[in-house]
Order: sequence, then structure tokens, then C-alpha cells
Amino acid sequence: MISRRDIPSVDRLLAQVDDRGLGRYPRAAVTDALRAATDRLRLVLSAQTPLEGDADAWIFREAEALLATAFRPSLRRVVNATGVILHTNLGRALLSEDAVNALTDAAGRYANLELDLATGERGHRSVHVDALLQKLTGAEAAVVTNNNAAAMMLILDELASGREVIVSRGELIEIGGSFRLPDVLRKSGATLVEVGATNKTYLRDYEQAITPQTGLLLKSHQSNFRIVGFTTAPERRELVALGERHNVVVMEDLGSGLMLDLRPYGIPDEPTVQEVVESGMPLLCFSGDKLLGGPQAGIIIGKKSLVDRCKKNPLMRALRVDKLTLASLEATLRAYLDPTTMLEKIPTLRMLSTPLPELENQARTLAARLRELLGDRARVAVEEDASEVGGGTLPARSVPTRVVAVTPPSGEALWEEHLRRQDPPIMARMARGSLLFDVRTLLPGDDQAIVSALKEAP
Ligand SMILES: *Cc1c(COP(=O)(O)O)cnc(C)c1O
Repeated sequence: MISRRDIPSVDRLLAQVDDRGLGRYPRAAVTDALRAATDRLRLVLSAQTPLEGDADAWIFREAEALLATAFRPSLRRVVNATGVILHTNLGRALLSEDAVNALTDAAGRYANLELDLATGERGHRSVHVDALLQKLTGAEAAVVTNNNAAAMMLILDELASGREVIVSRGELIEIGGSFRLPDVLRKSGATLVEVGATNKTYLRDYEQAITPQTGLLLKSHQSNFRIVGFTTAPERRELVALGERHNVVVMEDLGSGLMLDLRPYGIPDEPTVQEVVESGMPLLCFSGDKLLGGPQAGIIIGKKSLVDRCKKNPLMRALRVDKLTLASLEATLRAYLDPTTMLEKIPTLRMLSTPLPELENQARTLAARLRELLGDRARVAVEEDASEVGGGTLPARSVPTRVVAVTPPSGEALWEEHLRRQDPPIMARMARGSLLFDVRTLLPGDDQAIVSALKEAP
């Protein structure tokens, strides 16, 4: 039993700091935490709550909890059991092991970021990925920006400032995080010229809108929505030919930057970057961290004359990427050079293409462990479900998956909160009164984290 007489002095506590394992925290923070914990103990004792054990141990336990919370990083890893592969709130694409290694190497060391090692002269930072992008996509030139929104701003500033940009009414998108095409256009000093109707835009709509003021004809990926039913849009080649006839630049914001045909994996209608370049599209841009599976970046590729103009634009300096992005992007792109291993190497593609029987096995294994752990505390079942790809890609397309559905009798909300407060936090889907753990996005070790977290579920 602890009594008020047992409350130790700060000096006595400080003498034990190393033995009790708090030596890794800054001394001043430890002193503050020990004082706060001692005050708590006084308070608890004055409330006449009987306390078992030893006063010093009680204070150190309390102080350690305070320090752990105070020194926990704000940005932490989480377990993604939502099945959403490109979850924007969870950081979109995971980097491949090669990309992580390249990034780590570049981060803690000097690098030839802007140095041509052959001549000893100053080089351009984008050379580290330009040639790879050309080789992989077939485009004449490439340049990389901070993200795809930055790529759009750069292109618009260079080609359309003070001029008109023609966009189909079916493509005036808003994507999450305040990227709204009409606003982006206005901000870059361009005038939006809307053509067509929401569901149908014809080539003649574009053609009739072309004037001497036209700076750009912009085609955009619909990103996070899909129009179904009676729809019409001109073929890419027709738009390209129209631009050539009228001497107007045509560009496409592809959104995702898919470099692998997804038809064998049940996704029939997402254009690949190569396909768009092949169609003659003179300029295109896309994200690095969507279906490409690399770091956050915006990639501009196309005709050399147009890309070079973007490279020389003064905004480039504000929008350029650092060595960490270039190192991890280069390693990601290198993985695409070998089609036999790229699915294995790039986590986004690996997750997207995991065969259903494999998912079924994983789900059964996890379900068995949870059943054993939870007994009658919750119903556990493997269910058929669908994974969203996410990140504003492949709208209204999902891939069949398997989930472990855990149904606690008290409702799923309490358990959801419990899981979110674990270390690492665990994010699951809530549906039909259950927590759904989609095994598609689980990484090695995540199973164990889920089991450990559910051990103490309320
Ligand atoms: C995602 C997306 C963007 C924005 O890309 P970020 O890399 O997030 O800046 C722009 N346009 C389209 C069509 C998109 O899908």
C-alpha cells in the first residue's frame, strides 16, 4: 500500500533515471515528467484511493507514459487494412525497396544532384530521370515537378497565361485537397472556355471554340468520377490532329501515370502513358505517387520544344523536386525496365495484381487467429468484398477482394476508435455493423499488429 509518507523527493527519483530506462529522453523533459507524475500521485492519494505497490515505480510508470506521448512523432506509420491501395490520407503509393534504399543513400550523403561526373561541370538535376522517362514512355523529353498540380500550373503559366484554354464540360474536375480545374486555370491567368455538354462533347465543339486567343486545348482525366450512359468524347488522335490543323497545343492531364496495361487484372479502360504518347499527344502530365507507384512528383513529358519551354520557366525553380524525390523516382522507373519483376517490385502494382486465391488464404489465416483470440467476444468471418484503388484513380472501378469481417456485439465504432489509438494505429473499413480488414493492403507483420491490438479491445 502506498501512503503519502512514501512520496519520494525529486533528487531520489532523478538518481534512478538511467536504471529505469528513461535515460534516452532529455534530462529537462524527464524532470518535468517526474514532477507531473509526483503531483498526480499526490492527487490520487488525497482522493483516498488505496494504491497497491511502490511509490517510485508508480511515478516512473506514469512519467514514462507522459514522455512516450510527448516524444511520439506526429507523422507515424499506420497499418492500412482499408484495401484502398492509393489512400491519399495515408500517403498514397508505397515505395519499392529499391526506391527506399536509393532515397536513404541520397538523404544522408552528398550526391551528384547537379554535377555532371563525366565533365566535372554543372549539370541539370532532371537528367537523372529524363532518359529513363523517354525510354519508357517514348516521349522526346521530360521534366519533373513537386506534384501533378504543380506540373499543371507550370504548363498553364508557360503556354496559356493571358490566353484561352478550351476544356470539355465533362472534364471540369475537382479532386480532393482543393485542386479545382476552373480555379487552377483562373489562378494561372488563363481564361476557361467550356465546350460541349456534361455527357457529350464533339470534335466540332472544340473546333468552333478555337480563336486567335486560344493558347491550349486541354484534355483531363475525370479522376474521381465517371459518366455512364450516353456519352461521347472525341478520340485522342482527332484532338491531336485538330490542334495541328489550327496550330494550337493540345495537352492531356492523365492524372495517374499508369505505365502497365491493367486489362489482364480486370481494369479495362485506363489509358497507359505509352498509349497516350503513341497517339501523338504533344504534351502530358501525371502524378508520381498514383498508379506509377513512386514518390510524390509531377511528371511532364512530350515534345522537346514544349518541355524545354517549361524547364526554362521561372516558376520551375519554385516547383522543382529535391534529391530525395529524384533518387526514389529514378529507382521506381528502373523497375519498369524489367517487365518480369516489376509487378513484384512495385508495391502498388503488386497489391493491385495479387491473385484472389492468395488473398483468400491470407484472409483465412488472419480469421483463424482472430477467432482463436476473440472466442465469443465477436463474430469473425471471411467475406467477399471489393477494394477501391483510390487516390482519384480508376473511378467507379473496384477489384474483387477478401476481407476479414469482425463483428463485436457492442457495435463496431468503439473498436474502430480503439484500433486507431494503437501503436501502430490500425485503419480498417466500417460497414454493415462490422470492422472489415481487407488483406490486399496488408504488409508483412501487419497481421500480428492487428492481433495484438484486438487483444485489448474494449
Ligand atoms: C490526382 C490528379 C491531379 C493532382 O495530382 P497531385 O500529384 O496530387 O498534385 C491532377 N489532375 C488529375 C486528373 C488527377 O487525377
